[in-house]
Amino acid sequence: MDQLLAELSRLPGVGRKTAERLAHHVLRMPREDADRLARAIHEVKRRTRSCSVCANVTEQDPCSICSDARRDPQRVCVVEQARDVVAFEEAAAWRGLYHVLGGRISPLDGVRAGELTIGELVRRVENDGVTEIVVATSPDLEGDGTCLEIERALEHTGVRVSRIARGVPTGYSLENASAAMLQDALRGRYAVEESADEPEPESEPEPPAEPDAAE
Ligand SMILES: [Zn+2]
Repeated sequence: MDQLLAELSRLPGVGRKTAERLAHHVLRMPREDADRLARAIHEVKRRTRSCSVCANVTEQDPCSICSDARRDPQRVCVVEQARDVVAFEEAAAWRGLYHVLGGRISPLDGVRAGELTIGELVRRVENDGVTEIVVATSPDLEGDGTCLEIERALEHTGVRVSRIARGVPTGYSLENASAAMLQDALRGRYAVEESADEPEPESEPEPPAEPDAAE
């Protein structure tokens, strides 16, 4: 019981109290349910690995996204974690490929550029005909630093590098937006073009216009 409590407490977001509740729940579970849970944990570690192309979590290599011929292999969206890929896929917002960094540069947590898959990303751009990189790291200081490092590492390739827009979320009320959101939104403003009659862009938004060009 102590061992189970200790292991559960190590999960993210699980404190001592929650660990105790979960452990007692496991104790009361029918034997087959507990076995199934243990097996699922065992199997997910046994079957999954990192995609050799994009470093996403996968059961087959290359992963189903990298091997999908309908996707645009010239465009790569760079994310911190495999779960960010899931978020983009659920939103059906991206038709290119991905690259999973495995975290972000964080001096406080001791994560340096060399521990991320930036080198692999550079090799993809150099060898796989990638023409556009969209960086989707977190909209904070560490995400900014990671984006800068990626730009620097890719500079010699001449690939186009952009960053996803940030600011006020779609569907969000302005009166609830924080100062940081509003500052970001103003900084990332774009020119309003005569696009009222045109359909929404399907996957990739237009590259943002220079802020100075905005009226
Ligand atoms: Zn992949």
